Amino acid sequence: MIMKVMKPFVAVVVAVSFCAAAMSANAGDTNSVKLKPYTLKTCIVSGDKLGEMGDAYVYAYKGREIKFCCKGCLKDFNKEPAKYIKLIDEAEAKAKKAKS
Ligand SMILES: [Zn+2]
Repeated sequence: MIMKVMKPFVAVVVAVSFCAAAMSANAGDTNSVKLKPYTLKTCIVSGDKLGEMGDAYVYAYKGREIKFCCKGCLKDFNKEPAKYIKLIDEAEAKAKKAKS
């Protein structure tokens, strides 16, 4: 007899915890937004090829990934980030046009 009472109760608990899990999963997604990848082969600050002076320096800026040829370029980037973001967007748009 007790089991008959328990079953709908368990179903409700499962449904509620499922919803809670789904909600917390969504909250987690907004916290770990995927970065927009950096598709250029060169450092936007110096214009040098990435990887030539060792591993590229990867930096996350406003939800996008930016790769510099070295850490020193990050300093220059931070002086005028808007300018470099614009340069990246322009260079990426150009690269896309060249491909298609
Ligand atoms: Zn550099």
